[in-house]
Amino acid sequence: MELNDLYRDVILDHNRQPRNFGALEPADASVEGFNPMCGDHLTLRLRLNQDTISDIRFEGQGCAISTASASLMTEAVKGKSRGEALKLFERVHQLLTDDAAPPAEELGKLAALSGVREYPARVKCASLCWHTLASALKATDLKSLAAVSTE
Ligand code: ZN
Repeated sequence: MELNDLYRDVILDHNRQPRNFGALEPADASVEGFNPMCGDHLTLRLRLNQDTISDIRFEGQGCAISTASASLMTEAVKGKSRGEALKLFERVHQLLTDDAAPPAEELGKLAALSGVREYPARVKCASLCWHTLASALKATDLKSLAAVSTE
């Protein structure tokens, strides 16, 4: 099996059966993200225990890549600290946009997102949830978060 097939299977799997999909009540932070280019829309909710993301879920409608990316992201950042999650955001952003990005094996299933780099029009679909998460993690006032748009 080629690596690209493996990546495609991960994306298809997470689109068909998104992990951590649904409401999260109560949540410490709730932030919406839009990608007008494609019409992707998601709401991300998370709970923080001190500095750790103790739970995270998402809802919304989007294309296969945006849904799979959000599903993979929630799996990857649950249990991580804010700082660790922001580091992962930067690593994934590099993976999505930089052809010279270092190999992604240590990222586990998130490595599948590197396949999106071959489709520049879809990069925002994959990065939407990550920008939305970063906005929540960088905020000091979690109760008044503005919506995030990729435009
Ligand atoms: Zn999309």
